[in-house]
Parts: sequence; C-alpha cells; structure tokens
Amino acid sequence: MVGMDKHEHKNCCHTNDATAAPEAAKDPVCGMNVNVAAPKGGTHEHDGTTFYFCNLKCREKFAAEPDKYLIPIEDRVVE
Ligand SMILES: [Zn+2]
Repeated sequence: MVGMDKHEHKNCCHTNDATAAPEAAKDPVCGMNVNVAAPKGGTHEHDGTTFYFCNLKCREKFAAEPDKYLIPIEDRVVE
C-alpha cells in the first residue's frame, strides 16, 4: 500500500463515535451488511446500481448470475 491517507488519530476525548456510523449496504449474495466506505469484497455495478460485497467470492457469484441475487434473500429458494 502506497501513500496512506492523511488520518490523524488522536487519543482524545471521544469514547463512542456513534454519530459517525458508516453507511452500510447489504451484500445481495449473503445478506450481510457491508461498510460502503470500505467494502471488503469490492463493488459491482449492475443496471445502474452499485452493489457492495463482504467478500470477493460473493462478488464473483453476483457478477456471474446477478439476476439470481436480485431476488430478495427471503424470497429466494434455497437449494
Ligand atoms: Zn457476502
């Protein structure tokens, strides 16, 4: 990794930074919440929508068969 972001982390007064909760998106493959600021599995754009993934495997699955994973997880037939 080259060139770290300028990130000053001071051990100051903040104890619980609840107001700065990261925005989360749902991984369409496994249903996990993914931090959109730093998706571990990266992102994939489909039909003008960006999807976020917890894991590269999830992203690969989605990229291979996006339509399958566009069905809400609760309506999906589990094999
Ligand atoms: Zn996932």
